[in-house]
Amino acid sequence: MAETGLYYPPDPSSWEMCTIGGNIGTASGGLCCVKYGVTAEYVLGLDVILADGRLLRTGRRTAKGVAGYDLTRLFVGAEGSLGVVVQATLALKPAPPEQLVLAAEFGSAAAACEAVREIMAQGHVPSLLELMDKTTVRAVNAFTKMDLPDTTEALLLAAFDTHDPAADLTALGKLCAAAGATEVVPAADAAESELLLAARRTALTALETVTAASMIDESAGAGAGRPATMIDDVCVPRSKLGEFFEGVARLSDEYRLPIGVVAHAGDGNTHPTVCFDGNDPDQCIRAQQAFGAIMDLGLELGGTITGEHGVGLLKKDWLAKEVGPVSLELHRGIKEAFDPLGILNPGKVF
Ligand SMILES: Cc1cc2nc3c(=O)[nH]c(=O)nc-3n(C[C@H](O)[C@H](O)[C@H](O)COP(=O)(O)OP(=O)(O)OC[C@H]3O[C@@H](n4cnc5c(N)ncnc54)[C@H](O)[C@@H]3O)c2cc1C
Repeated sequence: MAETGLYYPPDPSSWEMCTIGGNIGTASGGLCCVKYGVTAEYVLGLDVILADGRLLRTGRRTAKGVAGYDLTRLFVGAEGSLGVVVQATLALKPAPPEQLVLAAEFGSAAAACEAVREIMAQGHVPSLLELMDKTTVRAVNAFTKMDLPDTTEALLLAAFDTHDPAADLTALGKLCAAAGATEVVPAADAAESELLLAARRTALTALETVTAASMIDESAGAGAGRPATMIDDVCVPRSKLGEFFEGVARLSDEYRLPIGVVAHAGDGNTHPTVCFDGNDPDQCIRAQQAFGAIMDLGLELGGTITGEHGVGLLKKDWLAKEVGPVSLELHRGIKEAFDPLGILNPGKVF
């Protein structure tokens, strides 16, 4: 596709291992969605095999069109519960210039979240705006030996893919400093930018190696129990991001487990990752409780339980809390219309 000068923007961090079918099934997002939007905005039409074996074609070739319900959108994010996508027509964009990344260190997650709020309020349009808390930075360092600033409380990564990204980063760097950044480091070139992004892209994998014991004694490393994680996907209004980070830190203390937060901060979409020892039954119970308490916190702050990963099995109870009984009843009616025998992903979503 690159040879045509076009590209497909949605870029989940799992891009090396995920499929377009899965991206459509979960309406996935990614790092650049703060500027370019999520999968739903790029799906123009679908070929879907329905539960009874019929082929359904959705979408249109015209710029506009309102004939009938928007069935294309209905399948995006349906988690395979309404049909199997066998072909997709996707929108492409002209490839932007290479992006340049800036890293800003903050003395508190609250200060970093305030910087995020201000960046977006002032109308900056970064091509990514990602935030990692100190637990995540420590995990990435231990996993990759990358030597990120280990003492930081929060590390913000911002990028521009404009025609003068260096100038945009200078303006953003000033804004971060005014918001309390203790250090602002713009990448010199594309190679340095990629290095900073690699840190972000390995964050969830790095957190998968963490247990409470390994956080206390890093030399214990992966040998400290059987590292396991439960990854939340709560999205909150950007103005509530600081409160959410603080709330998750409180829950980490309350449940006595490390919770690393990595966030697509520009979208308010966070991935608090509860780290525990899978061999310890007590930790397993506390991890599940913390995982649920994080979703409750997100809902209290006016957010959603899932910004991009979907509901699956784990979040079914919280979906009911979020959407309420009327919406749930309609969900059931739609499922019944598409899949009366309940053979597509039975028991998932609701
Ligand atoms: C390290 C890591 C990083 C991640 N980062 C991100 C991120 O930045 N952004 C993000 O959004 N997600 C992220 N994810 C979550 C996940 O990778 C994405 O949601 C991805 O879109 C799932 O694609 P998949 O091919 O793995 O789908 P699967 O997990 O196989 O399936 C996902 C859902 O889609 C359904 N499905 C799959 N194929 C089809 C089809 N052909 N037709 C209909 N339904 C179908 C499945 O039934 C299932 O319900 C990450 C995951 C990991 C492990």
